[in-house]
Amino acid sequence: MLELFEMFRMEQRFFMFGLISTFILGCCIGSFLNVCIWRVPRGMSVVSPPSHCPNCDHQIRAWENIPILSWIFLNGKCSSCKKPISARYILVELMFGFIYTLIYMTVILKNLPPSALLFYGIFSAILICSAFTDCELGIIPDEFTYLGIAVGLILSPLCPSFWHTASRPAALLLCVGSIVVGGGLLAGCSLLGKWIFKREALGWGDVKLVAAAGAMLGLPGALFMVIAGSLSGLLGFPVLRLAVRKYRHRKTMKFGPFLAFGGMAWIFFSDRILHWFEVLRGSLLG
Ligand SMILES: [Zn+2]
Repeated sequence: MLELFEMFRMEQRFFMFGLISTFILGCCIGSFLNVCIWRVPRGMSVVSPPSHCPNCDHQIRAWENIPILSWIFLNGKCSSCKKPISARYILVELMFGFIYTLIYMTVILKNLPPSALLFYGIFSAILICSAFTDCELGIIPDEFTYLGIAVGLILSPLCPSFWHTASRPAALLLCVGSIVVGGGLLAGCSLLGKWIFKREALGWGDVKLVAAAGAMLGLPGALFMVIAGSLSGLLGFPVLRLAVRKYRHRKTMKFGPFLAFGGMAWIFFSDRILHWFEVLRGSLLG
């Protein structure tokens, strides 16, 4: 009995260690994603030159680059020219710390295959980067979406258990099918929207992001992302227009952040969502 208790305590300590290290790792990845959000849509390299202040060109020193802490110590200002550093930096770092911790907990507590850590970890990074570039510049760079599609195609045959199969070719086939059907459906919607409204109603960046969701979450995940993204957009956009002055006169909404919301909801609640779907289907079919 005592041994069992000790084992439980060991496992608990192991779990806590995992939580703390995932949070720190998530914050560090968030710091790198900030670089991607700024540089990728501007066609700049993410590795060189080293980080510098966009206002005075002051090169960021190692101690100014510690996730979360540096932003607080610097009081949110450049150490050289004192120009405010966007709150987005600390927000993305914190957000990522929490997202990675939640993904770790989801995989452990729901007994998912360890490969889910890779699929969910990488795709959530792509979702957040896409949401921020879409908000700030109105684009979702191909670098993000093609990366998602490529990683899905490479990982799927290596980790077939993520696709609930033991066969590598079957996993690859499922991945390809999800990309084609998910991306194809949204491409159809985009073309239909353009034909009806005589202007681009749904950007190709959104279409490619859904194709990437097919590769990284599977077809049900990609479809849920579109449905939840559309519903949250329909509800959220009028609220945003009322609440945020910047959006007051906006006529069109950016779909990327709402798609990201739908994708994250699937990552954390897919089992609940599938359960509700079964209940709904059962009650509709009597
Ligand atoms: Zn500066």
